[in-house]
Amino acid sequence: DLRCMYHGFKFAPSGRCVEIPGETTIPEIARVASYPVESRHSWIWVWIGDPAKADAALIPPAVGLDDARWVLRHGQLDYAAPFDFEPTEHPGGVGVHPHRGFETVTLAFEGSVAHHDSTGAGGVIHPGDVQWMTAASGVLHKEYHEAEWARRGGRFHMVQLVVNLPAAHKMDPPRYQGLTAEQIGRSDLPDGAGIVRVVAGRYGDHVGPAETVTPINLWDLQLTGAAPVQLSFPRDETVALLVLDGSVTVNGTAANHRDLVVLDDDGTDLTVDAAEPARLLLLNGTRIDEPVVAYGPFVMNTRTQIMEAIQDFESGAFGHLDD
Ligand code: MN
Repeated sequence: DLRCMYHGFKFAPSGRCVEIPGETTIPEIARVASYPVESRHSWIWVWIGDPAKADAALIPPAVGLDDARWVLRHGQLDYAAPFDFEPTEHPGGVGVHPHRGFETVTLAFEGSVAHHDSTGAGGVIHPGDVQWMTAASGVLHKEYHEAEWARRGGRFHMVQLVVNLPAAHKMDPPRYQGLTAEQIGRSDLPDGAGIVRVVAGRYGDHVGPAETVTPINLWDLQLTGAAPVQLSFPRDETVALLVLDGSVTVNGTAANHRDLVVLDDDGTDLTVDAAEPARLLLLNGTRIDEPVVAYGPFVMNTRTQIMEAIQDFESGAFGHLDD
């Protein structure tokens, strides 16, 4: 059987849906034609159309998640660009699902999100706040638009990062850090260039509140455009910038809203220029340089560990959380 690790639907090889978590009846429409499966680029590719048309040659060239630097190297980032939601009594979000082997870091720029997990931890984050959820050995959690915010509706703008954990810490106990805008604080950049909010790491004397497993800088840069910003990082670390608002040039190359700029290994001295006000998320960290095998909500070092994660999830070892 095949289970969708995000929504929990389980399908028999015939394509018939045989389980929907929390539901006693399964609608006839919940099925796929059948699902020939092919493993390629460390992804599991599943055909859900006519099985006669399943052809491995049709699998597009894809980035292998077994590349130790896949997240930043290949621009994979869960970016909820600004979007206006209508008022609703039924908050949007993602129901109960597992994670193991990494952290989810959610930064709220506009809108409010509620989180609950199977350790009993939880909280609501509002604009300027950050939720740093270390899944490590495993949690079940659910993430929804906060009910009051959903009732009012409005603009929603967030980023969720997947932060890998080194092998030595993948099976640590889970941890939850709710970081408020007040704790994060803000510091002035030189020459009236704007402000920086340090979530993790350090800018000058300003130390961010997040406790991280490996050294990470995570900064929210809000630029006025009055002066360029000079930043410098150690040579063999990964540095990336996501443009949240406005346009900038990074070492002379233009970057616009939604662009993720990943610096070359030897390009860690940055000059960021904004002609007008702009907002950027800066990500910097030391490389873990271990094998990465990612599958759905699990990020481990080997396929065996992925199989163990799936077995542990199916046997209830991640605990329980009501939907
Ligand atoms: Mn999640």
